[in-house]
Amino acid sequence: MKATYDVIIIGAGPAGSVAAAYLQKQGKTVLVLEKMKFPRFVIGESLLPHCMDYLEKVDLVETVHEQKFQLKTGVTFYHQNEVCAFLFEDRYTEGWDYTYQVKRADFDKALIDEVAKREGVDVFFEAEVKAVKNSSAVQEVTFQYQNQTHCIAAKFIMDASGYGRVLPRLFHLDKPVNTPPRSAIFCHIEDQNRSNKAAQNIFVHAFNDNKAWIWSIPFSDQTASVGVVGDTELIEEFEKNDGEKFREMVYQFPGLADRFKSSKFIFENRTITNYAVSVDQLYGDGFVLCGNSTEFLDPIFSSGVTLAISSGYKAAELVDQQLNGQIVDWEKQYAEVLKSGINVFRSYVHAWYDGTLGTIFFSKDSNPEFKKQICSVLAGYVWDETNPFVKRHQTILEKLARVIKIQEGAPLN
Ligand SMILES: Cc1cc2nc3c(=O)[nH]c(=O)nc-3n(C[C@H](O)[C@H](O)[C@H](O)COP(=O)(O)OP(=O)(O)OC[C@H]3O[C@@H](n4cnc5c(N)ncnc54)[C@H](O)[C@@H]3O)c2cc1C
Repeated sequence: MKATYDVIIIGAGPAGSVAAAYLQKQGKTVLVLEKMKFPRFVIGESLLPHCMDYLEKVDLVETVHEQKFQLKTGVTFYHQNEVCAFLFEDRYTEGWDYTYQVKRADFDKALIDEVAKREGVDVFFEAEVKAVKNSSAVQEVTFQYQNQTHCIAAKFIMDASGYGRVLPRLFHLDKPVNTPPRSAIFCHIEDQNRSNKAAQNIFVHAFNDNKAWIWSIPFSDQTASVGVVGDTELIEEFEKNDGEKFREMVYQFPGLADRFKSSKFIFENRTITNYAVSVDQLYGDGFVLCGNSTEFLDPIFSSGVTLAISSGYKAAELVDQQLNGQIVDWEKQYAEVLKSGINVFRSYVHAWYDGTLGTIFFSKDSNPEFKKQICSVLAGYVWDETNPFVKRHQTILEKLARVIKIQEGAPLN
């Protein structure tokens, strides 16, 4: 075991793997410490096309193609009998027009295994970080590995520990979130009766007056992920009696009843309660947070892995520059940049739950140019400020919904 590295990365999820791959490419030595044995389950199975740009930059896109995951070319939203389909090929911003729907156990393992083959990267699985001694000059990371406590030093630490939130916990960086407490219940289920092409893509169906929604994400092995997101109280109700109400709910949706009524569950329902998290600070002397250890808003637009990968990449770029002796303005070059993308999704998440997006998505006469621009956001291109639906995200959705309501003679509330 080496005594020092340039960078220690906590967590081998997508944020950690992409950060490690970038730093390795720049000739840095990297140690990735991962608490679990891989493959391991994690939720977050539908990717966005923009994550492919970053995977390509760190030479991981071929690894992903080789896994033969289920192709994802768009997303379809349903509300009662209304349907709104977005195809990524119709998006406004240049870039990828497809991505994949992945079992994260396989996706995350494929990425980290590929990175671990590269010279200069060491990966320890079942190595749980317990403590971090941080100063501007050196970082000391204490971890449990093979029944022993070890301590290794590095010039810089990247926290990509996702739901583990290692540095936010150790450094007291957690900040309360101001969204209503929401939770999720989900399972994997056999999916051998996909009736049409739309069933190859993710399907989101709003219910309970937009307070809840159900997802179905098909995988390439003829299984699917199905889950419901809603107020924590609703999910607690769904969880009772082995998820009885959750199953009943799945069979209530026209597209899902026929598809799943005779399917076996691959694993029984699991829940994640009050998933939204946030932090006061994204960086400090000698450390930076990326992926879910920064902030996680809501899964409605499948943005989590794309934000994890993009933040892992952006943070690694700056870590490399700092280690090369350049001055990095972490607030301007990292925190502000990352937050600008997260804030675009934040506006869309609010607009989803308050019904604004429903008005736009299900309007009878949708403007094709606006649809393209919204499609870009749904594909993850949230840093493209030439897109008015990115640049003016705080106001444009409400204004558009208002115009639609006036045109359709609907009440303005
Ligand atoms: C209900 C729900 C549905 C979602 N659906 C989607 C979706 O469809 N698409 C999408 O893109 N995102 C989705 N997400 C979000 C997605 O789960 C996360 O955004 C994503 O997994 C974040 O990746 P990451 O690399 O930051 O962290 P993770 O993937 O969580 O990886 C972190 C790693 O750190 C390790 N770790 C933790 N603690 C320690 C420690 N002490 N020492 C060492 N290692 C440690 C963990 O074992 C883990 O392997 C969803 C989230 C929820 C709650």
